[in-house]
Amino acid sequence: MTPRLVLVLGDQLTSSVAALKAADKTRDVVVMAEVAAETHYVPHHPKKIVFLFAAMRKFALRLKAEGWRVAYSRLDDPENAGSIGGELLRRAEEFGASQMLATEPGEWRLIEALNAHPLELQLLEDDRFLCSHAEFDTWAEGRKSLRMEFFYREMRRKTALLMDGDQPEGGQWNFDHDNRKGPPKGLAGPVPPRFEPDPVTDEVLELVETRFGAHFGDLYPFWFATEPSQAEAALDHFIAHALPRFGDYQDAMVRGQDFLFHSVLSVYINSGLLDPLTVCRRAEAAYRAGQAPLNAVEGFIRQIIGWREFVRGVYFREGPGYAGRNALGHRRRLPALYWGGDTDMRCLKEAVGVTRRESYAHHIQRLMVTGNFALLAGVDPREVHEWYLAVYADAYEWVEAPNTVGMSQFADGGVVGSKPYVSSGNYIAKMSDYCQSCTYGVKVKRGPDACPFNLLYWHFLLRHRTRFAQNPRMGQIYRTWDRMDEDHRAEVLADAERLLARLDAGEVV
Ligand SMILES: Cc1cc2nc3c(=O)[nH]c(=O)nc-3n(C[C@H](O)[C@H](O)[C@H](O)COP(=O)(O)OP(=O)(O)OC[C@H]3O[C@@H](n4cnc5c(N)ncnc54)[C@H](O)[C@@H]3O)c2cc1C
Ligand code: SF4
Repeated sequence: MTPRLVLVLGDQLTSSVAALKAADKTRDVVVMAEVAAETHYVPHHPKKIVFLFAAMRKFALRLKAEGWRVAYSRLDDPENAGSIGGELLRRAEEFGASQMLATEPGEWRLIEALNAHPLELQLLEDDRFLCSHAEFDTWAEGRKSLRMEFFYREMRRKTALLMDGDQPEGGQWNFDHDNRKGPPKGLAGPVPPRFEPDPVTDEVLELVETRFGAHFGDLYPFWFATEPSQAEAALDHFIAHALPRFGDYQDAMVRGQDFLFHSVLSVYINSGLLDPLTVCRRAEAAYRAGQAPLNAVEGFIRQIIGWREFVRGVYFREGPGYAGRNALGHRRRLPALYWGGDTDMRCLKEAVGVTRRESYAHHIQRLMVTGNFALLAGVDPREVHEWYLAVYADAYEWVEAPNTVGMSQFADGGVVGSKPYVSSGNYIAKMSDYCQSCTYGVKVKRGPDACPFNLLYWHFLLRHRTRFAQNPRMGQIYRTWDRMDEDHRAEVLADAERLLARLDAGEVV
């Protein structure tokens, strides 16, 4: 029998991934490829590229050890066709194959490329998620708006995670109100375990240094896990040392503390090195053993079986044009400070700094600092989306786009969130120690020393008054504005205009 090609992509590094489950070890050839098209379409952070290539190479070695025939193309292979489609054609010729099996990619662009490919394709749904496309559509059908909270409850019932019979553990579905503590002085979290690069990773480090050294982001020190046993060690460490305080300080931001009590597991979960449900069961077991409180464990599990599954459902339900939406008509270019350019805003300096060092930032830095600023300033959501996709090691379009285009930029017009996530400097002052060392004054509301978030907050709300004044959750904000002194209002708006003009002129803000 002629072999079929079995495509395994860089975020499908799970030995039970659908295409491998459906394949025949004695007949088929696994195709894995490091291709230029995927590394260049946005300028990925060098740490992200090293992580993916090293984890792919090690996965291929494990498959070979299990008896699979693997055709692996390295980036610097002179025969490398440079794209997934091209590599499939090359391997089809080499092995005389006319059919291929693939697990559905997490990006419309690649799904379309596979569907248009001349080889006969069997595309299998990625069953590493709790909620299938059909199940999400059934849940979403007929609802006026999609809200994560109700979806999440379905997932709790489905998985029986933190359930007490048919009731939620502790009598509540959601303990979020306990999870918004600002950081006390000196708050410090455990440092996630670091893994010394092995010879496979060293070789990739060299390749990436040569080929992608000019991309934004620090390559060294490289410490990510690149195989399942290491990712499991990172999970063990998180459960033992960070999970107990994950809830309390989930939204906190502290200078010099890149990770606080976050798990730093998304990079491993999204690539297939860790199974999301296993991660949640481990967290639940820690709660049941009295090792972590309910607010922490519920909050953590909600991120995975709630938000993670919900945004995926939205991405696939909304269709291929989702990442290009721009409901608010924002057109400003992404300021240079996002690529490491100088800024006087301490919060942005910190959030971009950890992004550059670690290809990581935690949720509140992404949402309420870099995302909030881009939204307030009216940056084109396409540029914002491409930035997040490039700079974070955990970024794949199915999860990044709904978080950026939807949750953070409101560019989907309210599919992911019912109102825009915007705030003045107050929120950042409450949740971080950033403002204490900032050039701007967070309490200053106008004038050259005013915190830019304070100025742009009102500018944004006024620009979009027609859209948001009718939102029941936002009416009060507009009434507050209307009650302010007229001269004060005029000055705030004029200061905001000046600030935006300086941003556009490329001045340091
Ligand atoms: C603008 C923006 C862009 C984002 N882009 C991505 C992305 O490309 N990839 C990505 O995995 N997450 C993304 N997120 C969600 C979230 O910020 C990251 O999942 C989280 O910061 C990863 O760090 P962690 O593993 O320490 O998470 P923790 O805080 O420890 O959370 C635990 C786990 O929950 C999951 N999770 C938490 N929040 C979300 C969420 N909103 N959506 C999906 N899963 C979630 C992740 O798997 C994470 O590992 C984005 C958020 C925003 C606001
Ligand atoms: S004062 Fe404003 S710009 Fe400065 S750190 Fe605080 S929120 Fe950021």
